[in-house]
Amino acid sequence: MSFTLAIVGRPNVGKSTLFNRLVGKKIALVDDQPGVTRDLREGAARLGDIEFTVIDTAGLEEATDESLQGRMRKLTERAVDMADVCLFMIDARAGVTPTDQLFAEILRKRAPRVILGCNKSEGRAADAGVIEAYGLGLGEPLRISAEHGEGMSELYSMLMPISDEFEERAALAETFAPQLDVDLREEDGTEEEDEAAWRPTAERPLQVAVVGRPNAGKSTLINKIVGEERLLTGPEAGITRDSISLRVDWDGVPVKIFDTAGMRKKAKVQDKVEKLSVSDGLRAVKFAEVVVVLLDAAIPFEQQDLRIADLAEREGRAVVIAVNKWDIEDEKQEKLKALKESFERLLPQLRGAPLITVSAKTGRGLDRLQAAIIKAHETWNRRVSTGKLNRWLQAMLEQHPPPAPGGHRIKLRYMTQAKTRPPGFVVMCSHPDKMPASYSRYLVNGLRGDFDMPGTPIRLTMRGQG
Ligand code: GDP
Ligand code: GDP
Repeated sequence: MSFTLAIVGRPNVGKSTLFNRLVGKKIALVDDQPGVTRDLREGAARLGDIEFTVIDTAGLEEATDESLQGRMRKLTERAVDMADVCLFMIDARAGVTPTDQLFAEILRKRAPRVILGCNKSEGRAADAGVIEAYGLGLGEPLRISAEHGEGMSELYSMLMPISDEFEERAALAETFAPQLDVDLREEDGTEEEDEAAWRPTAERPLQVAVVGRPNAGKSTLINKIVGEERLLTGPEAGITRDSISLRVDWDGVPVKIFDTAGMRKKAKVQDKVEKLSVSDGLRAVKFAEVVVVLLDAAIPFEQQDLRIADLAEREGRAVVIAVNKWDIEDEKQEKLKALKESFERLLPQLRGAPLITVSAKTGRGLDRLQAAIIKAHETWNRRVSTGKLNRWLQAMLEQHPPPAPGGHRIKLRYMTQAKTRPPGFVVMCSHPDKMPASYSRYLVNGLRGDFDMPGTPIRLTMRGQG
């Protein structure tokens, strides 16, 4: 598993020049693929020993009127959504233009990680532009010259940690991810059968992990849940608590909650830097069906929070974001708005996942948190009938025909839901290897919206047919 870098910026700043340098060979500049992928090029890139996918927003003209601006924005947003990291490029010789400002705004809102590249930086003519670039609010500008290959080792050092992170994830995923065993059903089960298959039971309770940084309030939350359960059911009744998990019953749904704080204490791991290590979180994620990422309202969306939320998504778990210590927030309205904005910007892969404000101390919001967990679990188990899926697929194909690489249009023949937990779909098609990520993303976003599956990871596999 490697990461995807999108090169974005206005026309003529040198995006294609860098794309060609990274991909290492000239690939056809313009191809006449109809459909949604027309304006995006994807290539296998290499920089030193790092291998990744690069996307270039080729085929743009300078936006002079509204419609072009709109098109440019759309295309850029699509590239940003497909990427793990964006290289936002400006022409340092030309300085920062109003169009650059527009791009910067999109990226600040939307992109998880941005590298600001000042291209054409060979020689002194670029100095003023580089200084201006600090004003874009996207961190320290990186001087590069795509044409002369300058700045590539600096770019390498910026991509290195990202590459490491993805390799680490790949290794972890291999160890822990449940196999996506595609079992192609000839016929759909009845809804009753499906219901029965996944509804939590006393033997198979809904498994929840509460993860978060130290001091986010995990222990307080767990104790509160135990306490409330006790109030409702009398001392000790209904609760069994062992060292790493406890059992509760929420409106008739049996739930098992993993106590990661307790786990760490039990393992006596001395966390010197007071840092939730990836492996701690990972262990919890591995146990869980639903992962509650508990944030501290005073310091929400710290790097560790983002990593664990992203990991949970990648591992295919349903995710609920809970913002704790809401009792000490004064400006609740404004704060909530800011939180939602940060959430969308920093965790676009979890778009639509619930964000619940709680106070573990007072117990406020815990009922809403419970309801959100149960709903997330339902969505995660959702099954869509093959008939419905294929009618939907036809409509999607008509709206946006798939691309035709080399003049041969990829044919999407048939689609079925191969698994749940999380929902996984298989599309039978010609040339699955040629299917661009952008088209898959188009389908995934469509599924999410049209079948009401917000916030759950959705897997889509393209399969060739002999
Ligand atoms: P795109 O529209 O952003 O893809 O830009 P191109 O890659 O097509 O480049 C636009 C122009 O800038 C071309 O004439 C390139 O030769 C030139 N160019 C690209 N990179 C550099 C560079 O590092 N230095 C200089 N001086 N010119 C460059
Ligand atoms: P953990 O490390 O995630 O298990 O966090 P703890 O449960 O030990 O809580 C860390 C600190 O935050 C403790 O001092 C708690 O009393 C405090 N705390 C936890 N939840 C809340 C809350 O909802 N409101 C407030 N004001 N403080 C809280």
